[in-house]
Amino acid sequence: MTVQRDPDRGGIAPGEDVGAAPGAGQRARAFEYLFDAVVVTDLDGIVVDWNPGAVALYGYARDEIVGQPVSILHAPEDVDRVTAEVFAAIARDGYWTGEIKRRGRDGSIGWIESMVVPLVDGDGAPAGALGINRDITDRKLADARLRASEAQWKALLESLPDGVVVCDQAGDIVMVNARLEALLGYRRDQLVGRSVDLLLPHGRRAAHARQRAGFVASPRSRTMGEGRVLAALHRDGHSVPIEIGLSAIDTPTGSWVIAVLHDVSAREALTERLHLLGAALEAAANGVAISDPQGVCEWINPAFTAITGYAAGDIVGKRLAILNSGTHDAAFFRDLWATITRGDAWHGEITNRHRDGHLYVEEQTIAPVPDATGEIRHYVAIKQDTTQRREMERQLQAANATLTRQLAEIEALQAQLHDQAIRDPLTGLYNRRYLAETLDRELARATRTGDAVAIAIFDADHFKRINDTHGHRAGDEVLRALGAILRAGTRRSDVACRYGGEEFVLLMPGATVEAAVTRVETLRAQVAALAIVHDGRTIRVTLSAGVAAFPTDAGDGDALLHAADAALYAAKDAGRDRVVVHAGVLAPAAATRPRRATPR
Ligand code: GH3
Ligand code: MG
Ligand code: MG
Repeated sequence: MTVQRDPDRGGIAPGEDVGAAPGAGQRARAFEYLFDAVVVTDLDGIVVDWNPGAVALYGYARDEIVGQPVSILHAPEDVDRVTAEVFAAIARDGYWTGEIKRRGRDGSIGWIESMVVPLVDGDGAPAGALGINRDITDRKLADARLRASEAQWKALLESLPDGVVVCDQAGDIVMVNARLEALLGYRRDQLVGRSVDLLLPHGRRAAHARQRAGFVASPRSRTMGEGRVLAALHRDGHSVPIEIGLSAIDTPTGSWVIAVLHDVSAREALTERLHLLGAALEAAANGVAISDPQGVCEWINPAFTAITGYAAGDIVGKRLAILNSGTHDAAFFRDLWATITRGDAWHGEITNRHRDGHLYVEEQTIAPVPDATGEIRHYVAIKQDTTQRREMERQLQAANATLTRQLAEIEALQAQLHDQAIRDPLTGLYNRRYLAETLDRELARATRTGDAVAIAIFDADHFKRINDTHGHRAGDEVLRALGAILRAGTRRSDVACRYGGEEFVLLMPGATVEAAVTRVETLRAQVAALAIVHDGRTIRVTLSAGVAAFPTDAGDGDALLHAADAALYAAKDAGRDRVVVHAGVLAPAAATRPRRATPR
């Protein structure tokens, strides 16, 4: 097995005796001037020769190295590998090429690219080996640096919080990072090699191709935030609002575009939310003011202006305390500030001064707004003018009081009306209608309780004569006097009424006949003793009375009245000015007299 001779390389051909071959002089010159380090060893790996290139690379003079094992030129940790590989390769291929970690005379470590070929003597017997070594330390370092740099860039790219997509000039995706996969819902193998159109909203594709061509023709980096918000198309079809940063890089195959996609959906959503809340506050019926921690007004809404009279230009930048009316003492505001500075909301009523000077009452809630660290950054005051409400409440109360008074008046009037309906205007006693109602009720109750009910009918004697003698008005006067005596003589449960012209009835629930007769007799005597002075003349009058009792004399009201009336008739017959009990009880003779249903 031989190695191809390569005249251009100027190397030493394997299988030749270096010293004896034709052209040896030229070869020796080449050996001396070759930049590569050439090392010749014997079969035991002992250096037998090397060239100035080797002196320059390893630092050993020729005399120093000859006789030393070649292994001292290798980094100790690489000796075994190199030895094994070289023997195996030569046995198999007749030569070995590879990289060796070398060690110089001063202990410095570097890398060489090496080719090792066997040497034979004049008889063709193996004589040693020839190594041709080129220093690649710089390249190795550069490679290592490049790899490290690439790894760093890759790590950086993958850890970026923004999506990155790199496209070539044709708009085909060259690479993307992990964030872009997450942002737009693709795996990178679904993107690389595809057109970037895939990531663009359909309506944007044509314009984007033009812009891309323009950008590639005159690349101008665009930093994030400069442009307006654009949209990228998610794999599931929805648009993702993004901001985009662009830069171009030159590659051997043309300009590539690096696009950095910053997801602004959260910011957009927040902006929209803020906009919405702002609109709500603008439209709110409650007055709203936002102040800094010192109470300096930062913002107000239109309702605030409506309540206080202050427009934004009048009050923003000034202390909200300009609304103070002087109504509240220092302790009031101390309490208010103590509440809100410790982080609680304050709620209460404040009397403030309107811009035009008048005082008004507002219901107010003041809430502190802390930042993430808990420090209070603002206060929000929400106010409602309650002057109107209070006035309405006052009016309502006044109206209520009036209504109550009017109701009482109406009730009194109704009572009066009722009273008038059941009373006789001349004497003030009950009237006949009331008696009729009461009599039935009392008899029903007496039936339930088993109590007695007595009744007396009175009739003024010869009353016509009084009228005739003294006049009708004198007659009235007498009737009033009779009413007064009856009223004075009645008890709480009694009912005294004017039954007709000069006839009266006294209903005595619970009274026995005997008790009733006693009382009626007393009344009769009082009347008989009465002297009424009218127009300077004294008028006298007497009464006749008939008494009857339930249930002994009658079973119902009408019958009871008839019974009493019959007794009265008997009293008249017997000479007037007397009391007669119903015949059924005390005077059997009187019972035979006809009864009267109506007053005489
Ligand atoms: P007697 O003893 O029989 O009862 O005789 P009398 O005159 O009282 O007769 P009677 O009962 O028939 O007459 C009642 C009179 O009372 C008739 C009427 O003029 C008079 N009278 C009835 N109502 C009033 C009234 O409201 N005022 C006055 N002044 N007189 C009245
Ligand atoms: Mg009479
Ligand atoms: Mg009469």
